[in-house]
Amino acid sequence: MEVNNMHSLRDLLQDAQQTGKAIGHFNISDLVLLKAVFAAARELNVPVLVGLSEGEREFVGARPIAAFVRSLREEFDYPIFLNADHTHSLAKGVEAAKAGFDSIVFDMSALPFDQNVRETKQAVEALKAINPAMLVEGEIGDIGSGSEIHDQAPDLSKGLSTPEQAKQFVESTGVDILAPAVGNMHGMLRSMVRGETKKRLDIERIAGIKQAARILLTLHGGSGTDDEDLRKAIAAGINIVHINTELRVAWRRGLEQGLAKQPDDVVPYKILPSAVDAVKQVVSSRLKLFNEERHFAQGM
Ligand SMILES: [Zn+2]
Repeated sequence: MEVNNMHSLRDLLQDAQQTGKAIGHFNISDLVLLKAVFAAARELNVPVLVGLSEGEREFVGARPIAAFVRSLREEFDYPIFLNADHTHSLAKGVEAAKAGFDSIVFDMSALPFDQNVRETKQAVEALKAINPAMLVEGEIGDIGSGSEIHDQAPDLSKGLSTPEQAKQFVESTGVDILAPAVGNMHGMLRSMVRGETKKRLDIERIAGIKQAARILLTLHGGSGTDDEDLRKAIAAGINIVHINTELRVAWRRGLEQGLAKQPDDVVPYKILPSAVDAVKQVVSSRLKLFNEERHFAQGM
């Protein structure tokens, strides 16, 4: 998926669907992360999504970040898009829609299934009334919470999504994108940060959900996932992959290196490039994997 002219996010996702690639979604909560993501994407000339959860939006401001990303998109004529990640109330969704976000993850997955369906359907209608082009993603199942480092793995086995649930949810809500629970998990275990263990995905479940729901699929909690599983997941129908914790780990390490290298310096733009470089390396390696040439198209 090479960048040549401007497309909508929906067009780019359809392209990804047809070429068997995935769009990388990277969470940001400051200018270091945004600079790193944008630089990595431009170097590889691939489209990219940046996302902010409610907490990340609270810190940066929904309107300022929307203006910033829009200005990058316009100045460089570049397909960088903005997602309102994990939004847990319609009020916060409306705020993001009015600020100009291109997509939203409306996440009522903690509620019982029927209630999740009802509230997501209402949100799709309300948000599309504000901006018909905004893509709405719904979520089913349990993938844990918090893109942080966890000491112990939560038991998510009972919260895995089924193809039947996925089909029913998509048909009843009218969402554009679905985020299922397929072995993925938010955050990373300490052993994953050390590189000793990897997350594994249920590829057959992904393929079954794609077959049943015939919709764009997002994989949340991609940090620390086995590379080969990510390739197979994309081939099985994943169109967007979220990476957050890996970036946060790199951000902290890069910042510590920048401070350690210049113990007496106080100039932010001399210290922070270490953090930008550390994050950029992670983004770049993930984007390369998501955009590898695959010799088959996904079925939808
Ligand atoms: Zn997520």
